[in-house]
Amino acid sequence: MKIFRDPAKLQKWCRARRNAGSKIALVPTMGYLHEGHLSLIAEAVRRKADEIVVSVFVNPVQFGPNEDYAKYPRDEKADLAKCRAAGATAVFFPTPENMYLQGHSVYVDEESLSKGLCGARRPGHFRGVCTVVAKLFNLAHPDFAVFGRKDYQQAQVIRRMVRDLNFDLKVVVAPIVREKSGLALSSRNTYLSPDERERALSISRTLRELKAKGGGALAAVRKGLESAGLRVDYVECVDAQSLQPLKAVRKGACVLVAAYAGKTRLIDNILI
Ligand code: AMP
Repeated sequence: MKIFRDPAKLQKWCRARRNAGSKIALVPTMGYLHEGHLSLIAEAVRRKADEIVVSVFVNPVQFGPNEDYAKYPRDEKADLAKCRAAGATAVFFPTPENMYLQGHSVYVDEESLSKGLCGARRPGHFRGVCTVVAKLFNLAHPDFAVFGRKDYQQAQVIRRMVRDLNFDLKVVVAPIVREKSGLALSSRNTYLSPDERERALSISRTLRELKAKGGGALAAVRKGLESAGLRVDYVECVDAQSLQPLKAVRKGACVLVAAYAGKTRLIDNILI
């Protein structure tokens, strides 16, 4: 497995592999890898990519000033071992300095799908995500890139960016990987105390109950979260494609939740 730190070297290697006829997959991550990330690598293996490039980069540009950039968990050694075991053929560990050169002044802004939900609560977040993902696409030139449905809005925003900026690649979106308890895996789960983790189970539980009922009131989800002791950031029901708010929870809708367990902001969603 190759390890790259220099963007230019990754780009050169990917170009050579591509010219040699290899099918390249890209799996962008912020590291501290868990089974959710590994399922994306597994998806790339399943799709018979010859080269699977995993990027591990805590992208400062997508964090707000009061967010957890500095304390975001990092474990390069463990990430390398997990990538190797999962079948990655290259890992890209850039630094903020070599991704954002002095005077960096070009950003990618999606102006529609990224404005609601997490975009409304985290101004600049999707601008940071689109910018770094566009850069990774230009570095790796993948045939396809794999994202998780855990970040539902992100996946839709990336799809739109690929369409509107004519990136020559396919976006693959893989299912949410959960603990047995239902909790969606997230690097941020490591912040949770045992008590907060218990409270956090209400997120997947209330979403599951909503779906089992075949719809119903969002108020029940909010109430379930609040009575478990979470602070709700939002509970919204949107059209799964356009992300436009829907009045009723119905088939083809996506219900998304962001809620705080203590200081930790968790997100989850379910397709109805
Ligand atoms: P992150 O490292 O949190 O930025 O996530 C990197 C990629 O892994 C994104 O495409 C996420 O949607 C995906 N991902 C994170 N957690 C999960 C999960 N529990 N199940 C599936 N994909 C996930």
